[in-house]
Amino acid sequence: MAAPSPPAPTAPDAPHLTPQLAQWTQALGYGPLYVRRALLVQQAPQAAPTTAPMATPATTPVAPAPVVAATPPRVIPPSPSTRSSPTPRSAPRPAVASEGDAARAEAIARMDWPALDAATQVCRACKLGSSRHQAVFGSGATTARWMIVGEAPGAEEDRQGLPFVGAAGQLLDAMLHAIGLDRHAQEPQHAVYIANVLKCRPPGNRNPEPVEVAQCAPLLQRQIALLQPRLILALGRFAAQSLLGSTAPISQLRDQVHHVDGIPVVVSYHPAYLLRNPADKARVWRDLCFARQVMTSAAPAQADAQP
Ligand code: SF4
Repeated sequence: MAAPSPPAPTAPDAPHLTPQLAQWTQALGYGPLYVRRALLVQQAPQAAPTTAPMATPATTPVAPAPVVAATPPRVIPPSPSTRSSPTPRSAPRPAVASEGDAARAEAIARMDWPALDAATQVCRACKLGSSRHQAVFGSGATTARWMIVGEAPGAEEDRQGLPFVGAAGQLLDAMLHAIGLDRHAQEPQHAVYIANVLKCRPPGNRNPEPVEVAQCAPLLQRQIALLQPRLILALGRFAAQSLLGSTAPISQLRDQVHHVDGIPVVVSYHPAYLLRNPADKARVWRDLCFARQVMTSAAPAQADAQP
């Protein structure tokens, strides 16, 4: 009669390795590695499940979070290195790109107005730099209390190098005049400084891409820091969402005061939208009156006292 064969080892989840079990596993060729893994499971039951793959960036908390969610400055969208793909932290390419972006942002944050303008004119940080005719830096008195932020240059802006020209620009001028502002004024209380989220025109006036907004953000951020406006009027969905780091529709962002670095932000529709939807002019008028009210109620004494 044949001798009974030894029971099959229940190795991975065996709570305890007896000398006999160790001997069997040695005979089966599992060796020390098997033993070590079994002990590891026994000693550290809270470790990652053995059935989970090593790299699960989409579902595990070690996946790098997009910078748009983690970066405090609301003007800065996600870093291009982490924005589009949940690559593991150890991937070398994103780390290098992020360091380059950080160094560029730090350099921009130290620029004065002339240096910032010059840097914008030669910028090639995103692909729009190779398709534009010229960068549109911004216009208006750098002592203005009001700042207007739009989306991106259109065809006419790209040709002239100025923001908000053409039919949309004329409508903006009319809107500003209605509340006592003038883009050509030099007196701080009447002047406005106008800039866009993107300094270069997207081909065909397509929507800005996240990587383009991300690369251009330090320029707008520095403009805001240099200007220190008393109020920012964000015109259009992209301007509002980029400034506020929000994905909410413009209908939800209107009629309230937001803040960017302590500066009040009021949201309204873009003049180009109004050209297509003139029925919404009444809403914009209400937004402008609201913005003026925010401006005057924020610092009424200073508004009268300062030149
Ligand atoms: S859009 Fe902004 S980041 Fe891109 S090339 Fe123009 S200035 Fe540079």
